[in-house]
Amino acid sequence: MQSFDVTEWGKSLQRAVRETPVPKGTEVLVKLKYCGVCHSDVHIRDGYFDMGGGKKFHMSDRGMNPPITMGHEPFGTVLSAGPDAGPIPVGEDRLIYPWTGCGKCARCLAGEDNLCMTPQYIGIQRPGGYADHVLVPHPRYLIDASGVDPAYAATLACSGLTTYSATNKLRPFTPEDWIVVMGAGGLGLMAIAMLHAGGHRRIASCDIDPSKFAAARAAGATETFNPADPDTPAKLAALPGGVAGAVDLVGATQTAQVAMAALRKGGRYVIVGLYGGEINLSMVGTVQRAMTVQGSYVGNPQELREVVALAKSGKLKPIPLEKRPLSEVSRTLDELKAGRVIGRVVAEIA
Ligand SMILES: [Zn+2]
Ligand SMILES: [Zn+2]
Repeated sequence: MQSFDVTEWGKSLQRAVRETPVPKGTEVLVKLKYCGVCHSDVHIRDGYFDMGGGKKFHMSDRGMNPPITMGHEPFGTVLSAGPDAGPIPVGEDRLIYPWTGCGKCARCLAGEDNLCMTPQYIGIQRPGGYADHVLVPHPRYLIDASGVDPAYAATLACSGLTTYSATNKLRPFTPEDWIVVMGAGGLGLMAIAMLHAGGHRRIASCDIDPSKFAAARAAGATETFNPADPDTPAKLAALPGGVAGAVDLVGATQTAQVAMAALRKGGRYVIVGLYGGEINLSMVGTVQRAMTVQGSYVGNPQELREVVALAKSGKLKPIPLEKRPLSEVSRTLDELKAGRVIGRVVAEIA
């Protein structure tokens, strides 16, 4: 098999060729067709996440060292499985749930694998989808997405799932309530599409790059704002009925400030983006405004099934999608880092 690996932090991915693994225990071997290219891989390739306040989260401090095969939006054909896997759909295409845990703890057994304290995520701790084959730890992570375009289905495992789970954390809200979506990149457009698919129409998209507004409106945004404009917080706060919730797909200090300032009493601010930074939160203000600040990290296998069902129903507007050969994954990461990708790039695996 071949893969494109991080061999040195911060450097271009390198092509590697090795023996195709043989599935053991409950493992399933999948021959990949597509893998979405996610912005968080830019940080993993760099070897760290900016935690704000000058602090960095280094992958190597968590025992992760190159070579690493990234890629956590894999889609492919089931080939074979280990002796303990039970019946598997050999020859059929499946979307892979990548946020796998230890498989043994209470969270994993409750189906909240993404909240496992010893994560074994595919494409992060385990080898991922920037490769022609991948090992999945258990058949329960294989999701039937038939009826959905396979390249698009791949993107549902991270950006789709993440935005579905995050926008659900803004609930309950009424059709009259305004929801702010910070960021109109791949995740931002998907968050807008998720809200729109859920029937919501009062969606304010915010991005510092006005060239992204057309795509935001096409995804379902009703208003667009530039968070760098000093008038934006006041304009958002003045929206009729007030802003009930803000979902932040950027996750920077500035977007947090604009989003939280916009919220009405009882509002919820959900952080998803990993740009990095810190928030100064007035404790008295948080109490008096009865504000909720919550982080949201990907989602669980059941939520991914719900996202796939939403995509099958045709309610979810597809975001702009570009297919590129797997060999161009490094260039794609460079473009994501520079903010030059509109929508989503999916690696096509020959
Ligand atoms: Zn991702
Ligand atoms: Zn676990």
